[in-house]
Formats: sequence, C-alpha cells, structure tokens
Amino acid sequence: MTFSLAIVGRPNVGKSTLFNRLVGRKLALVDDRPGVTRDRREGDGRLGDLTFRLVDTAGLEEADAASLEGRMRGQTEAAIGAADAILFMIDARAGLTPTDHAFAALVRRAGKPTLVIANKSEGRSAEAGAIEAYALGLGTPIPVSAEHGEGLSNLYDALCAAL
Ligand code: GDP
Ligand code: MG
Repeated sequence: MTFSLAIVGRPNVGKSTLFNRLVGRKLALVDDRPGVTRDRREGDGRLGDLTFRLVDTAGLEEADAASLEGRMRGQTEAAIGAADAILFMIDARAGLTPTDHAFAALVRRAGKPTLVIANKSEGRSAEAGAIEAYALGLGTPIPVSAEHGEGLSNLYDALCAAL
C-alpha cells in the first residue's frame, strides 16, 4: 500500500512549490497570490529511495471573502482525513501568524503523524521563524527551501523516521 502524505498550511507558505519538487512535474500551480491552488492535487512523490502519494492542498475557488476561511478549512480537513501523515508547512521568513495557528489546531486535532516544515529557510534571515515554529507543539521544525531544494536530506531523515 502506498503511503499518503498531505501538505497542509496557510496560503503562500510554499506548499505547491514543495509538491512540484517532490513530484517532479508542474502539476501544482505556484503563484505569488495567496490561495491560488484551486483544487487538491495529487501525484506520486519521490525523495531519494522513498516513494509516497503526495497531496497538495489549500485552495480557494474564487476570492469570496465571506467563505474564504471555511473553504480552506473544509479542503484541508478532507486532505488531512485521507492522509497517513501530514507535512505541516510554515513560512520561516514570515514567522507564525494567527492563520498558521488555526491550521495547526486542525492538524493537532487529527492526531496523525506530523512533520513541521519551516519553508523559505534559505539564508540566515529565516532562523528566527524556524525556531518560533517549535511553539506549535507539533515537533521539531525541519528547515527547508522548497524553491532552492535545500534541507531535503533533513526532510528525508524525518520522513524515514515517520513512515
Ligand atoms: P502555496 O500557496 O502554499 O502553495 O505556496 P506556493 O508554492 O504557491 O508559493 C508561494 C510563493 O512562495 C511563491 O512566490 C513561491 O515562489 C515562494 N516560495 C516557495 N518556496 C520558497 C522558498 O523556499 N523560498 C522562498 N524565498 N520563496 C519560496
Ligand atoms: Mg498552492
């Protein structure tokens, strides 16, 4: 049976960028505008000798402010429910926001194996944000740069321990 991983987190932290890097195809739409992933996207992910089913989440179908939060929440909850384990992503450059805490609460409630990914960790300016992510209580943050392909060996080690 294939292990299934869901990438979860607020818009714009870099979920689709990590998805594309691990799936190796431009299946997920990457955009500067928060919330641009319209649907859940799935693909076969690979990291070293590990293979897994990967789900990219977090979309908003359109910018409808009233239902925006509810939509993200529903989609994220569905993805969490279907996954064996969760990659919970934050933006280490931005630090934690109230929205991060709201998504973290959903993840915590699910009680599934979770890795905290501190993305955008290229360079030193991200260290404070990565440290801050300990406060989520979801385990040791793994600094990566999805865009630059850095920190993936740490992600590999953490996945090996979790799978
Ligand atoms: P999503 O909304 O969580 O799926 O985020 P995206 O993957 O669409 O990325 C949002 C923005 O963050 C885009 O402009 C990406 O190029 C940028 N981004 C993604 N990963 C990194 C990273 O490792 N470092 C930096 N500096 N930017 C990144
Ligand atoms: Mg996306």
